Amino acid sequence: MGSLTNLSYFAAAALFILGLKQMSKPLTARRGIVWAGAGMVVATLVTFFDPNLHGFFNYILMIVAIGIGGYYAWSTGRTVAMTDMPQMIALYNGMGGGAAAAIAAVELFHASGELNPEYGQDVANLLGNDVALLAIMGAFIGCVAFTGSLVAWAKLDGRYNGSSLFPGQQKFNIALFALTAFLGMAVFNAESAMPIILFFAAALTLGLFITIPVGGADMPVVISLFNAFTGLAVAFEGYVLNNAAMIIAGTVVGSAGTLLTHLMAKAMNRSVKNVFFSGVGSAQSQGSAMTDKEMKSVTPNDVAANLMFAGQVIIVPGYGMAVAQAQHKIWELAQLLEKEDVTVKFAIHPVAGRMPGHMNVLLAEAGVPYDKIFDMDEINADFANTDVALVIGANDVVNPVARTDKNSPLYGMPILNVDQARNVYVIKRGKGTGFSGVENQLFYEDNTSLVYGDGAKVAAELIQAVKEQKA
Ligand code: NDP
Repeated sequence: MGSLTNLSYFAAAALFILGLKQMSKPLTARRGIVWAGAGMVVATLVTFFDPNLHGFFNYILMIVAIGIGGYYAWSTGRTVAMTDMPQMIALYNGMGGGAAAAIAAVELFHASGELNPEYGQDVANLLGNDVALLAIMGAFIGCVAFTGSLVAWAKLDGRYNGSSLFPGQQKFNIALFALTAFLGMAVFNAESAMPIILFFAAALTLGLFITIPVGGADMPVVISLFNAFTGLAVAFEGYVLNNAAMIIAGTVVGSAGTLLTHLMAKAMNRSVKNVFFSGVGSAQSQGSAMTDKEMKSVTPNDVAANLMFAGQVIIVPGYGMAVAQAQHKIWELAQLLEKEDVTVKFAIHPVAGRMPGHMNVLLAEAGVPYDKIFDMDEINADFANTDVALVIGANDVVNPVARTDKNSPLYGMPILNVDQARNVYVIKRGKGTGFSGVENQLFYEDNTSLVYGDGAKVAAELIQAVKEQKA
C-alpha cells in the first residue's frame, strides 16, 4: 500500500476521532458529524483510486455499490422523521456488520482454496494463524450484528413484536452459540467451502435467535451492543485487509459502543448476559400493573392554576414529546412559569425516547439551557419536594412497577421518582402503553391525573390557560 494511501487513511482516521470528540457536546455536534463524514469521503475516495486495486469488474461492483448505497442513504437521511431515527441507525449499523462479515467471507473462501484450487492449503496456512483468527472472529461478530440489528430495526419500526419462538429458547441459543464457535474453529483448517458456509449460516441464525426474545425496555442495551460489535468486526477485517482506516475507525466505534452499552446496561440495571440469555424483558413475561383504582382526567385549565402557584415544577419528557414535536411549546410554557417565580427543571431518564440522548437533543434544539436539564441521579431526590411533576409523553421511564413487580419486564430498571411529587400530570393521547407494552401503575395513583391529547396541542392549551389566568 502506497505511503500516500496510508497518509490519507491517517487523515481520515484523525477526522473520525476529532468528529467524534465534537459530537460529545451539543454545541459542536453538528460540526462533528460533518468532519466525520468528510473522513468517510476521504477513506472511500482513497480506496477507490488505490493503484493496488485492479480489475475492471471490481470497479463496476464498487460503482454499483456506491451508487445504490449513496442514493439510499442520501434519500432516507434527508426524509427520515426524527422519531424514526433509531430504526434507521439500527439498519445502518446492521449494514456495517454485514459488510465486515462479507469481507471475511470473501477472504475465507479464497484462503480455503475453494475459489483458487491451485493454492492447495487450508485457511490458517494461507492467511497465517493471527489473520485467520481475526477474519473468523470478525465474521462471527459481524454476522450476529447484521441479523440482530435487522430484528432490532423491525422491532423499533413496529413491524415485528416477537418474543421467544419456543419454550427453552434461551438454552437453545446457548447451544447454538457453542455450535457456532465450534464451526468457527473448523473454518480455521478448512480446505473447502462447506465448513465456512455452515459457520456463516450458524452465526447469522444466532444473531436472529438471540435478538428475537429481547423485548420492551432492553432494546437500548441491544442496539448499543450491536453498535460495538459492528465496530469490532470492521476493525478485525481491517487487520485482515491491512487497512489502517478500517482498523482505527472500527476500534473507535467498538470502544464508543462498548462504553455506551455499559452506560445503557447500568441505566437499565441489567447485565448484558441477563438481557440476552434470561428472557427478562421479553413480551412473554409482562407482568400486570392493574389496580382497582380508576384513572382520572383533567383539562389544561385545571392544570394551569396548579402550575402557576407551584414553587417547583419538574418536567419529564419522553418518547411522546418527540412524536408530538412539543419541545418548543414546552419550553415556552416553562419560560412563562419562570416569569411567575416558579422554579422549573427538566428531568431526563437515560433511556427516555428511542435513542441515547434523544431528549437532550430535542430540548437543546428548543433552546432549553443546559443548567435546567438534570440526569436521573441528580434529580430523583428532588421529586419529593416538588409541587408538580409534568410528564409529557413519558411512560416506561416513570412506571413504578419497575420497583415492585418481579414479573414485569421493567423490574429492576431505575425510574424517575415522579410518583413522589405532590401532584402529577401526565400528557398523553389515550390509554396507550409505552415501548415495553406494560400498563403504568403511576396513572392509577391518587396524586396523578391524565391530560389527554397530542403533546404539542396540550402544551399550547396550557400556555393559553396560563396566559388567561395571569390576565
Ligand atoms: P414510552 O415509549 O414508554 O412511552 C411513550 C408514551 O408517549 C406512550 O405512552 C404514548 O401514549 C405517548 N405518546 C405517543 N405519542 C404522543 C403524542 N403525540 N403526544 C403525547 N403523548 C404521546 O416512552 P419513554 O420515553 O417513557 O420510554 C422509552 C422506552 O423506549 C423505554 O422502554 C426504553 O427502554 C425504550 N427504548 C429506548 C431507547 C433509547 O436508546 N432511549 C432505544 C430503544 C427503546 P399514547 O399512545 O396514549 O399517547
